[in-house]
This record gives sequence, structure tokens and C-alpha cells, in this order.
Amino acid sequence: MVKCPKCGSDVQPEKTWQLISPLPDSEGRITITIMGSFHCVNCGFRWRGVVSKVKAGDSGVEVEGSSSKKALKDKEKKERPGQIIEVDLSDLDSIE
Ligand SMILES: [Zn+2]
Repeated sequence: MVKCPKCGSDVQPEKTWQLISPLPDSEGRITITIMGSFHCVNCGFRWRGVVSKVKAGDSGVEVEGSSSKKALKDKEKKERPGQIIEVDLSDLDSIE
């Protein structure tokens, strides 16, 4: 869930795609950035931005919350289940 920078309404991404960093971080994990294009139904503003970041490595996948995790969870309970982020780890293995 992302807030509209113009009016502050909660906006769901219309479209998402993944940007995979070619270089692992200090712990050998690869960062996958989920980008999204957004359209605010309240004020009509359109923009693109980061939806979330996922770090994938030997110890599994860790989702990095960009905002307050508690606030996000409260909203997800009320409105809809959280967005499912699918990561194909077999693809990542072949990069190394
Ligand atoms: Zn708006």
C-alpha cells in the first residue's frame, strides 16, 4: 500500500515489475526492488515508485517494509490480504 503524494489517499499499484540488483549486498543477498505504477482514484495523479524491496539469499527471503509495519498490517486486515510477492529462487541461484 502506497500513499498518493498529492492527496494522501491509499493507492494500490496498477502494475508492478521487478528490478533485480546485479550485485549482492554485504551478506551475499540479492536485492529485488518491486516497482509499481500508481493511479490515484481520488485526485487522478499518476506516478511510479517503489512498492517494496525483497532480499533473497541462502537464508531465505526477507521483505523490507518501507513504512511502519504495524500501520500496514492494520490496513491489510481491514481492506484485503497482503500483496503476494513471488520470488523464483532458482533464477537467483543461476546468477551466482
Ligand atoms: Zn491522490
